Amino acid sequence: MIPGGESTTIGKLAAHYGIIEKLRERSAAGMPVWGTCGGAIFIARDVPLHPHPLAELMDLTVERNAFGRQVDSFEADLDVPALGARPFHAIFIRAPRIARVGPDVEVLATLDDGSIVAAKQGRLLATAFHPELTGDPRFHELFLGFGAG
Ligand code: GLN
Repeated sequence: MIPGGESTTIGKLAAHYGIIEKLRERSAAGMPVWGTCGGAIFIARDVPLHPHPLAELMDLTVERNAFGRQVDSFEADLDVPALGARPFHAIFIRAPRIARVGPDVEVLATLDDGSIVAAKQGRLLATAFHPELTGDPRFHELFLGFGAG
């Protein structure tokens, strides 16, 4: 699991400690990887103008800070059909948005304006918000269902 945070710092440190190559190898061998918020940026293949290396695991274009500055952070109830009928309460903290998904990517949730905020590609999961900050375990259960790889 790649948590939120500043993707610039995550990328810089991951490159410094040689984690990116290992992560690519393990992911290619089937290890599930879930990136939330800054972590979703880190696992995306395409992030325009990102100043540091990224793991580039998932066929997504991700736009950083797509909803504005820290004070523009917000919460929203998402319709996530893959998790059932009950909406998922999502916390967005200076969040990114997924601007493009590749042909093998399944979109799991969008905002009312059409922004993609959760997606899955095989054993890769990207969420633009922070499911660890609410008590709803359904995204965690979905991820556990990917298996051990
Ligand atoms: N704004 C951060 C970035 O662009 C992500 C914020 C977060 O992970 N909550 O890297």
